[in-house]
Amino acid sequence: MNKPESTEATDRNHIWHPYSAMHSDAPVFAVESAHGVRLKLADGRELIDGMSSWWCVIHGYNHPVMNAALEGQIHKVSHLMFGGLTHTPAVELTRQLIDITPASLSSVFYSDSGSVAVEVAMKMAIQYWHAKGHAQRQRFISLRCGYHGDTFGAMSVCDPDTGMHSLFSDVLPKNIFIEQPRCRFGEPCTDHDIAPLAQALDKHAEHTAAVILEPIVQGAGGMWFYSAEYLQRARELCDRFDVLLILDEIATGFGRTGKLFACEHAGIAPDIMCIGKALTGGYLTLAATLTSKAVSDAIDQGEPGVFMHGPTFMANPLACTAALTSIRLLLKSPWQENIYRIERGLNNGLAPCRESGQVQEVRVLGAIGVVEMKQAVDMKSIMRAFVEAGVWVRPFGKLVYLMPPFIISDDDLARLTDAVVKVVKNQ
Ligand SMILES: *Cc1c(COP(=O)(O)O)cnc(C)c1O
Repeated sequence: MNKPESTEATDRNHIWHPYSAMHSDAPVFAVESAHGVRLKLADGRELIDGMSSWWCVIHGYNHPVMNAALEGQIHKVSHLMFGGLTHTPAVELTRQLIDITPASLSSVFYSDSGSVAVEVAMKMAIQYWHAKGHAQRQRFISLRCGYHGDTFGAMSVCDPDTGMHSLFSDVLPKNIFIEQPRCRFGEPCTDHDIAPLAQALDKHAEHTAAVILEPIVQGAGGMWFYSAEYLQRARELCDRFDVLLILDEIATGFGRTGKLFACEHAGIAPDIMCIGKALTGGYLTLAATLTSKAVSDAIDQGEPGVFMHGPTFMANPLACTAALTSIRLLLKSPWQENIYRIERGLNNGLAPCRESGQVQEVRVLGAIGVVEMKQAVDMKSIMRAFVEAGVWVRPFGKLVYLMPPFIISDDDLARLTDAVVKVVKNQ
């Protein structure tokens, strides 16, 4: 590159974005900096962030306490191999996680991303059954419209059709999919609602390592909120058929639904839990897979006596520091009041969308607001319309949704929902 290209040209010509084409005319906006709930574009415009950078940035951008904690850790050590070495950030974070997650979870495996945390959970379930003398238990039961990540194991439990991975179906392990629960959050779960899971377990338990679910909120597969009672009944069925339950709390963890973890709505605990996304408050990439002692003990006692996974950046000290600081900030804040305040703001602010003939449904749970359209939106034009309205909102398919940072003020939230109402009405 002799002549310097513009930022936009280099981006367009050489960089892939998530689920994008290299040479695409979809707009990409350069961000110069971000503070609180505001993204400052390179051209000087400011946008109110409605996405928390995909569930992550719960305290807002450029938080002084987060910044100071990370600067402090940089002067101690930024990265260490985790083979044979340990450090205070990992140890303190682990204590904190064991403290705030369901009581039965006590063994923690750190990895770099949510997808890998799901891979790890699936490998743990398989190793668990291998150690117990049931090596044939290698399959997973999951929900249609589920999303668990983009790597091969994770893809194999994402929705096989509407999921983003049907192209790979021939090379993916064949897992078992059941209908998504149609019983909504706040509603009971009938025998009819739970029947698909009961039948799948009845038929396949002998070959099933685990049931894997996103608790309460099915995220990237459709932003659907289902009954807490479904989750209770799923737990009972897993116990009855002696199958492990993996809960993927990567999107729901750390308060987003109004509970610290979504499984608390049902008062149940998984055998294996995956967390990521908001874990570090959106500062660095970190995820974790937590298990009960029963699971980790079985893995220890089986062949080959160790769990077979070990990422290079496992428990990176900077990432662990970010996570520990973020969790402490969250617990010190009136986070639950904030979530309920945002829930009210989303309910009130998005209600006028219902008047649009293009809108199928508006639904809100905690700090998640969803406007489901009748048709998939045109991404190029709608992205420009949102930016012109001064907000950062990125729909997918038929879903226009908001999940702002927990610190958003009522005024900014109203600006955000007003922009959504305006843009949706012009669809
Ligand atoms: C985002 C997400 C993942 C994947 O996490 P990555 O960090 O993108 O790999 C897995 N499960 C759920 C529920 C998610 O929302």
